[in-house]
Order: sequence, then C-alpha cells, then structure tokens
Amino acid sequence: MPTPNADPAPLPVAIVGAGPSGFYAAEALLKALGPAVRLDLFDRLPTPFGLVRGGVAPDHQKIKSVAAVYERAAADPRVRFFGNVKLGRDLSADDLRARYRFIVYAVGCESDRHMGVPGEEAAGVHSATEFVGWYNGHPDHRDRAFDLSCEAAAVVGIGNVAMDVTRLLSCDPESLAATDIADDALAALRASRVRTIWLLGRRGPAEAAYSPAEIEEIGGLPTADLVADRAEAVVDAVSQGALADPVVKKKVDYIQARARLGEGSKSRKVRLRFRVSPAEVIRENGRVAALRVEKNRLAADERGRVKSVGTGEFETLAVGLVLRSVGYRGVPLPGVPFDERAGHIPHADGRVLAAPGGTALPGEYVVGWAKRGPSGLIGTNRADSAATVQSLLADLKVGNGTGAADLAADSTPKRLAEGGAKPVSFADWRKLDQIERANGAARGKIRAKFTRVEDMLAALAR
Ligand code: NAP
Repeated sequence: MPTPNADPAPLPVAIVGAGPSGFYAAEALLKALGPAVRLDLFDRLPTPFGLVRGGVAPDHQKIKSVAAVYERAAADPRVRFFGNVKLGRDLSADDLRARYRFIVYAVGCESDRHMGVPGEEAAGVHSATEFVGWYNGHPDHRDRAFDLSCEAAAVVGIGNVAMDVTRLLSCDPESLAATDIADDALAALRASRVRTIWLLGRRGPAEAAYSPAEIEEIGGLPTADLVADRAEAVVDAVSQGALADPVVKKKVDYIQARARLGEGSKSRKVRLRFRVSPAEVIRENGRVAALRVEKNRLAADERGRVKSVGTGEFETLAVGLVLRSVGYRGVPLPGVPFDERAGHIPHADGRVLAAPGGTALPGEYVVGWAKRGPSGLIGTNRADSAATVQSLLADLKVGNGTGAADLAADSTPKRLAEGGAKPVSFADWRKLDQIERANGAARGKIRAKFTRVEDMLAALAR
C-alpha cells in the first residue's frame, strides 16, 4: 500500500552507492511509494552493482546473477542512474541536502583493516581487498602488481574473502580463463609459482568465519590438498557450546575429516592453521621473507565470547607473499558523519547520527556495510535496506526530511554539468555491458571488462 505523499510532485530521494544495499533500498522504496517517488542513484564508478561486479570472485558467476534483480530496479522509469559521479568531487553532501528530501548512503566499506604487526608495510604484504579488486579488474586496483614468484604465501584471516583469494591462488588458472577475470591477473596466475598457501585462523575450528560451502569448495579443488593439523582441528573445551549450532558442527566435522586425510598427493597445499596470530613480518631488503606467528590458546571474555590469547610460543613460516584478509573498513564520505572507531557511518535504526550516540540528521539514512560494518552475504542486505527504509517511511509520515527546497528533476543534471562532471546513465552502462560481453565472446570469455574509467568514457563517446 503506497504511503501517501503530501507533495504533488514525486518525492525526490538520492541513493549514494549502486551496490547491493543501494539497489535493495531502491527496491524497497519503489515498492512502498508507488508513483510518488523519484529515485536518483549515484555511483562513483561508471558501472553499477558494487561488489557484485568488483568483489564476487570470477569463478562464482552464479552469485553475480543477482544483478538481474538490480537491472529491473534500474530500468524502472522512476529511477535515474548517475554513474561516474563521486560525492566530494562532483557533488557535495550539501548539494544533495538541497535537492533531495531523503538521502540514503549505501557506500559499503572501501578500505580494509590492518593486522597491526611490525613489518606490515613490507613489499609483498597486501590486503585481500586489493587482490580481489585486481583479479576483478576494479579501476582502483587494476594496476597493482602481486609477485607470485614465491613458493609459499600466507593468507591471514579465515573469512569468506580469505577463501576467495586462497581458491584463486590454488585453483587451475585455466578454469578461470572463460570467466570475466582481468587479463593481467589471469596471466599472473598462469605464471604463479605459489605452491603452498598458509591459511591462518587466530581462533579454533568452531570459530572459523568461513561458510561451510566455501571451505568445502577449497577441499574439493582438483589442484590442491586442504591440509589441517589433527591437534589444531580439535575443539577446545571453551568452544564446545558452539557445536550446538548445526552450521558450526558441519564446519568442524568437515575440518576434522580433512585432518584425518593427511597430506594428500596434489601439487599444491592449502595448509589451514588454527589458533595462530600474525606477530611480525620478517623482511629481507624491504620485502617479506617470512611471517612470524604466535600460537594462541582460547579463553572466554567477560561477555562469554571466545577470544584468542597469545601463549608466547612462536613459529616462523617462510613466505614471499602475505594477504591480510582481516576485514573491510569504511572510508569517510566528505560532509557525512563517520564513526572512526567502528569504521562506518553512525546511525540509529538506519537514521544517520551527527556523531556516535548523537542526534539524527533529518532525512539522512544509511544501509549495508556502511551501516553495520562488513558482515553478511549479499542477500543479507535486502532485509537490512528494507529496515532502514521503514525508518525513512516513518519519518516521511510525520513530515520529516532534509528540508530541501530545490526539488526540480533537472536540478541535479544541471549542477553536474556546471561542475564539468561526466555522468553515465543506465542506458550508457547497458552499452558498456554489451561491448564487454561482445569483446569477451570474441575471446571465449563471459565478458572482457573495461578496467579504466577513461576507457569506459572513451567507448561511450565513440
Ligand atoms: P570476516 O568474515 O569478518 O572474516 C575476517 C577474518 O579475519 C576472521 O577469520 C577474523 O578472525 C580474522 N581477523 C580479524 N582481525 C584479525 C587479526 N587482527 N589477526 C588475525 N585474524 C584476524 O570478513 P571477510 O572475510 O572480509 O568477509 C566480509 C563479509 O563478506 C563476510 O560476511 C563474508 O561472509 C562475506 N563474503 C561472502 C562471500 C561468499 O559468500 N562467497 C565471499 C566474500 C565475502 P576472528 O573470527 O577471530 O575475528
């Protein structure tokens, strides 16, 4: 049932960020407001879909098919897409406040957390975020270089991002050739000499952050053995309670079964370790030569959560590459509040707060990772965005909003033109999409991605 809108003109709403959470917010608003809404969806890249394009691994094409849902929302006549429009460069937050009754920030978490150990700045230590962006041809990361000439690499953290990068490092690169993987990454993986990947979890098998399907996918690789140490695969007394959760139990049973299989005979090894934390990156001539890890024991903290505690016993792993995969982190948007400690936008029920614990900014909302931090699968964002939209609708009902006065539909395109911005419409994106697919088909790939913004704009200008 559409919520009544007192204004005769459709309610102007800006959504900043065209990834999953932005599209799910659009979907919820379109459904709730019927013809009474006009949605402008902004993205700093000319391409929509956020992590579905730039984060999901190339061998997980099925997950990317969710973009069809977003396509439907984007095709709605109430929606306009302004790609290649960056907040702080082409438009300010105040420009939005002057032109939209409601603003929804859906900008995700663009950066990553650090391990916080000595030597982390050494050459050969990278974030998994960069590695993922590189193999996915993300314009921010396309020019990065990863030295894969070493025999062993370490991946720190055992969440699903760690599973993705480990799988890419240990699979047969030919299995990726027909996907949309970036050409440079495919070439580098073909030439890779990495044979051992240490996958390092700081807590035990019952606390592992990976999903069952993701660890089993690594275990099922024809090119690599997933090797776990029998003693490390044992569930600690403090973790026994977690086994009541069937998902935890499934993961633990799987790893214990793998541990019983031993080394295996495949040419590559993924060596999954538990209860070890990075302690120091050991360098030679400024490059990583080894990773020193401290063994942990597990203990319950004051809230009963299982935490890792260093034992003072160390071990050194000779590696030439370290990928830290210890979580993403938000980046502040110019003119928009940011909680430095938490690494995302402060909010109460999705309403943006002027400061953590402070008052709500009228008409401003947040969804997705920018709201709750980097957790959950793509689908998690649907309910999360819908919950924020409920807060927005409640505020609309009582007449709250930004107080914007400049509500003409052509106000934003005019502002962008004045500032020399080069916005990319959804029709433009469709052209890019077709070119990428055609270029890919000519080379036996699903798509050959544009990886430079300039190349995308040049293709559109032709
Ligand atoms: P994550 O699931 O939060 O995992 C982070 C990992 O880093 C955990 O193992 C964590 O250990 C560890 N860690 C954190 N700080 C550390 C430190 N200082 N030293 C050592 N280890 C540390 O994050 P993510 O892997 O970046 O994934 C983000 C979200 O995207 C997740 O919800 C994930 O499921 C989702 N995702 C899903 C897929 C998929 O479905 N295929 C793919 C990619 C991402 P503790 O548990 O001990 O904190």
